[in-house]
Amino acid sequence: MSYDILVIGAGPAGLSAALQARVRGKSVLVVAGDDRDNALYKAHQVDNYLGLPGLTGAELLDRFAAHARETGVERRTGRVLGVMPVGDRFYVSIDSDMKEAGAVILALGVSRGKKYPGEAEFLGRGVSYCATCDGALYREKRVAVVGLSADAPEEAAFLKQLGCQVTYVAAKRPEHLENDIPFVKGVKLEIRGEKAVTVLEADGEEIPCDGVFLLRPSLAPADLLPGLETDGGYITADRDGRTNIPGVFAAGDCTGLPLQVSKAVGEGLVAGLRAAEYLDQTRQK
Ligand SMILES: Cc1cc2nc3c(=O)[nH]c(=O)nc-3n(C[C@H](O)[C@H](O)[C@H](O)COP(=O)(O)OP(=O)(O)OC[C@H]3O[C@@H](n4cnc5c(N)ncnc54)[C@H](O)[C@@H]3O)c2cc1C
Repeated sequence: MSYDILVIGAGPAGLSAALQARVRGKSVLVVAGDDRDNALYKAHQVDNYLGLPGLTGAELLDRFAAHARETGVERRTGRVLGVMPVGDRFYVSIDSDMKEAGAVILALGVSRGKKYPGEAEFLGRGVSYCATCDGALYREKRVAVVGLSADAPEEAAFLKQLGCQVTYVAAKRPEHLENDIPFVKGVKLEIRGEKAVTVLEADGEEIPCDGVFLLRPSLAPADLLPGLETDGGYITADRDGRTNIPGVFAAGDCTGLPLQVSKAVGEGLVAGLRAAEYLDQTRQK
C-alpha cells in the first residue's frame, strides 16, 4: 500500500505533523516503536504545555494520539530500519515489510547511545537490528539479545520460539523476561568474531554466540537514511523542516534543542504543511 506521507515517530512532533497533513487531505501512515520507549511517555507530569497543565506524559500522548486517529491518521507499530529514495518516491522498510510514500517526515526523537565496538564491522554478518527479519536465520543457533527497547523481552521470547538459544543482555533484568531465558548483566559491550560474529563480551564476560540482536528504540538518523545531513547527532533542517533530501522533512527533538513538547508540536505542524505542499507541487510538474 502506498501513502502520500509516511511519518516516522508517534511522539508530539510526528502526531502533530500527521494531523496537519490529514487536514490538508493527504493519506498518512505513522510508524513508531513501542509507546513505552517514547520520551514523553516517561514524563511524570507536564506542567509547561499551554492549556493542558498537570497531565502525565502518557496522558498527554494518549490525547495527541486519539486526536490524530480521529482525523484518519493510520498507525502502525514497528521499527523502521531504512528509508530509500527512488525517483520521487520513498521506500520505507518496517521490520520485514516495506511501505511506499511520496514524502517522509522524520520525527524520531533523540537517538541516544553510540555504536558498540564491532557493531558496524559485523552488521549483516551476525549483527542484526530486527528479530522478525533475521530470526529464522538463527534457528538452533546461539544468539544474544541486547535489550535496549521496551519490546526486547517479547522479541527474545519470539527468537526462543523459533528455536534459537537466547541469552538476554541488559543493564538490568526486565520484569517480564521469560524465566527460562538466561540473563547477563552488561553495559560495556563488544562484538567480536572472524568472518562472522563468535562472541559478545558484556562487562568482561564472554558470551559465545552466532548472532547478536541489538534492539534499540531508535537508530541514528544518518543510519536510517544515508546521505541525510546531521550536525552533532541532530538532523539539519530549515525553518520549514526541509532536510537536504527533497521530500524528506524533520521535526521535534531530532532537529535539536530545546527538547520540549511545544517545540515538537510546532515543528510537526510546519513539517506536515510543507510536506503536503511539496506533494502538491511535485504532482503539478
Ligand atoms: C522524563 C522526561 C520528562 C519530560 N518532561 C517534559 C516536560 O515537562 N515538558 C516538556 O515540554 N517536555 C518534557 N520532556 C521532553 C519531551 O518529552 C520531548 O521533547 C518530546 O517528547 C519530543 O517529541 P518528539 O515527537 O520529537 O520525540 P519523541 O516523543 O521522543 O518521539 C519519538 C518517536 O519516534 C519513534 N522512533 C524513533 N526511531 C524510530 C524507528 N527507527 N522506527 C520506528 N519508530 C521510531 C519512537 O518510537 C517515538 O514514537 C520530557 C522528557 C523526558 C524523558
